Amino acid sequence: MNYRSTRGQVPDTGLAAALRAGLAADGGLYVPAALPVLGTADFAGLTDLPAIAERLLRPFFADDALAAALPAICREAFDFPAPLVPFGDGSSQLLELFHGPTAAFKDFGARFLAACLARLPAPAAAPLTILVATSGDTGAAVAAAFHRRPGFRVVILYPDGRVSPRQAHQLGCFGDNVLALRVAGSFDDCQWLVKQALADRDLQARVPLSSANSISLGRLLPQMSYYAVAALAQARASGGALDLIVPTGNLGNALAALLARAIGLPIGRVALASNANRVLPDFFAGAPYAPRASVATLANAMDVGAPSNFERLCWLYPDVARLRAAVTAEAVDDATIRATIRTVAERHGHVLCPHTACAAAVLGRLREAGDRGQWTVVATAHPAKFEMVVEPLVGRRVEPPPALAALLGRVATAEPLPADAAALRARLLR
Ligand SMILES: *Cc1c(COP(=O)(O)O)cnc(C)c1O
Repeated sequence: MNYRSTRGQVPDTGLAAALRAGLAADGGLYVPAALPVLGTADFAGLTDLPAIAERLLRPFFADDALAAALPAICREAFDFPAPLVPFGDGSSQLLELFHGPTAAFKDFGARFLAACLARLPAPAAAPLTILVATSGDTGAAVAAAFHRRPGFRVVILYPDGRVSPRQAHQLGCFGDNVLALRVAGSFDDCQWLVKQALADRDLQARVPLSSANSISLGRLLPQMSYYAVAALAQARASGGALDLIVPTGNLGNALAALLARAIGLPIGRVALASNANRVLPDFFAGAPYAPRASVATLANAMDVGAPSNFERLCWLYPDVARLRAAVTAEAVDDATIRATIRTVAERHGHVLCPHTACAAAVLGRLREAGDRGQWTVVATAHPAKFEMVVEPLVGRRVEPPPALAALLGRVATAEPLPADAAALRARLLR
């Protein structure tokens, strides 16, 4: 399988090169040159996540040096479950994606990317620096996935003061080959700094860089896997398609669901749940696409004003009318996030993180409008990562899962950095 840039200004390339590059040299995002077609019959007899992932991803790895290692990569990366659990009134369910080492769905993509890159020949004598901008959860997932892997260094950029205390602790607690930089700016500034560094050829010649943001193909492709598992389970149980409500920021998670649907998996409706950053809801309501500065919300991992995967969405649906028909999007403000966390806990005993609460609020609106479909709410993080928000609302302590508790027990440090490309350049060269 070959991969091409959404901007079409560079030649097609193989998987390994696309994984290593992160962003294409023309500033575009890598996408498959062709989409394979896979139906439920292709997965006959397969039930667990690593096996389904391997079958699903095989065409995407075809003819590549990594193809033979795909089974081992899937087993290594997907060593924790993605269960579907009953939710709320009984006609909906939660797809829990937070059972990995850092308690958010980003563990799936980060671990898969790390497992791939570790099996590629080293590009240079210097270690490969994985540069990652994070609004809270990506950085920890990437740090955990690459921590103490020989040949790699991780540099995390996060918006100072805009991540939860526990998220900040997680970002700074790894040490060794992981450097945490707290940036005086927003997540969009962090993302911009990463793009500047990746586009700096002179810097790249001295410090080989790659990215691990949701623009990375090595994160996008594996995220289809849990949707495939859930959709196949649902199809086998009921014969119906999986209707999804996805908490959305940079559009990486939702795009994986749309990609899985496009290649033939039984996924039905896809609804995006945004927080008060309404760039996608406004676009899907008919306004021109207008990226803007992000605003800080309780669902901070979705505080994105310029969703980086929008280019891939336009690639998947080149016709804007068809794009608007393929997906819906709703914005959820902080007051509604709070009310949803409180009511869901009171009524159903489920404690949700603020991101998952956005999706649950969208489900509530659908129910109010008379929709009786069997929706699946995607649960993207464990509520204990956001205990400062969640605990006062539900009136009790939310116990961190063991992996998160272990990270919180370590010492954490982060260096300050101005939101300035020259400052980042100097720090990377030091
Ligand atoms: C990153 C993140 C999101 C948003 O996912 P995107 O792929 O950026 O759309 C939602 N919820 C949580 C908990 C996250 O960490």
